[in-house]
Amino acid sequence: MDEHTRDAAGVEWQPYVPYGPARIMETSCCGVYEWVCEGGQFLVLRKGAAGLQESGRGRYAVARKVWTDLVLAHRARHRADNFGGAA
Ligand SMILES: [Zn+2]
Repeated sequence: MDEHTRDAAGVEWQPYVPYGPARIMETSCCGVYEWVCEGGQFLVLRKGAAGLQESGRGRYAVARKVWTDLVLAHRARHRADNFGGAA
């Protein structure tokens, strides 16, 4: 897997680099994504084949947009019917 990968929702992922104590505030459907607050920044985490990856790091509004896009894309995959409940 490339270090920088772009998924179906057009979101770019990069290896997670912690900058301080991270707090998981929310976990998405199927536990695919985690909404994280880390030292006043927000970001989305996912566990990929290459380990933990982050996206959208920054201010709440910026990161939250990424989170919402991902959650909606995930729901759309459920609706597509060929995507079971398993993460
Ligand atoms: Zn799900």
